[in-house]
Amino acid sequence: MKITVLSGGVGGSRFIEGLLRTKGPGDDVTVIANTADDIRLFGLHISPDLDTVMYTLGDGIDRERGWGRTDESWNAKEELGAYGIEQAWFGLGDRDIATHLVRTMRLQEGRTLSEVTAELCERWRPGVRLLPMSDDRVETHIGIDRDGHRELIHFQEYWIRLRAQVPVEEVVIQGIDDARPAPGVVEAITGADVVLLPPSNPVVSIGPIAAVAGIREAIERTAAPVVGVSPIIGGGAVRGMADQLLTGLGVDLSATGVAGHHGARASGGLLDGWLVDTTDAGQVPGLQALGMAGRAVPLWMTDDATTDQLARDTVELALSIGRRG
Ligand code: GDP
Ligand code: CA
Repeated sequence: MKITVLSGGVGGSRFIEGLLRTKGPGDDVTVIANTADDIRLFGLHISPDLDTVMYTLGDGIDRERGWGRTDESWNAKEELGAYGIEQAWFGLGDRDIATHLVRTMRLQEGRTLSEVTAELCERWRPGVRLLPMSDDRVETHIGIDRDGHRELIHFQEYWIRLRAQVPVEEVVIQGIDDARPAPGVVEAITGADVVLLPPSNPVVSIGPIAAVAGIREAIERTAAPVVGVSPIIGGGAVRGMADQLLTGLGVDLSATGVAGHHGARASGGLLDGWLVDTTDAGQVPGLQALGMAGRAVPLWMTDDATTDQLARDTVELALSIGRRG
């Protein structure tokens, strides 16, 4: 079976770990990662979601934090702070910097982000084919109000420095109209047996991937069932701070709200099926009304056993929907 996953960072990686532990021996997993979180800082090209997937699956992640390297030190960050460098809010660990140096060096030599990602994965051996959604530069910016004026700031600044505590007026995915799918991305979707959306952030992880022209069409036309997992349980984001982003876009903070935001493939959206938590089981009939299959299963990835079961449930829902046409 060919399994293709569209992923952000932390939520996506956890889910994919479960998928890799439970997949059949002949199954292949391709991960298309969001690159709209990418940022240039200090002349470095930083790809937070690609790195989170790579480090998590390659067993180099700091499990407690959920991002960055194990056994990390922060000397460079401290030194930057001592120089009064403003961007020192970004979590830049010493080991992590080496990854950004390699990526930046290769890009400057004229390689593509896909090529660099493949090179970095030779070290980390994540057990999946890891593809950036696009080799073109895309950056999510968040519109916030500053003293009565709309100001656009990079998503990382909003997320890390402002801790997502400021109301979102607007989400602008800069460069998305000109971005082309990276090599292999369209084929990974159209040639898949199942396409899965892990419980990644709907606005800043799944949103940008699905907004790349070519990726959206591939999702529209693939015969594979497309099934997603809700990142919202009850009335809030499970981990992290997705609430403000959803509210800012006028999306109802519920599993069904996010499903409606993605939309049913039957009516031009992304989804054939959507998994909600058992505590949200009452929302399943509403999903069917939206035009997608719904199922209620435990969605908290608290330990390996529950994460594995969630991966199995997701694949099972996809297989029960079956191929189109
Ligand atoms: P990021 O790029 O690092 O922010 O990570 P993702 O976009 O992949 O995932 C973030 C989302 O994962 C958040 O919106 C959370 O609501 C969701 N999430 C995290 N842990 C869990 C979990 O255990 N279960 C579910 N259902 N969602 C989760
Ligand atoms: Ca991210």
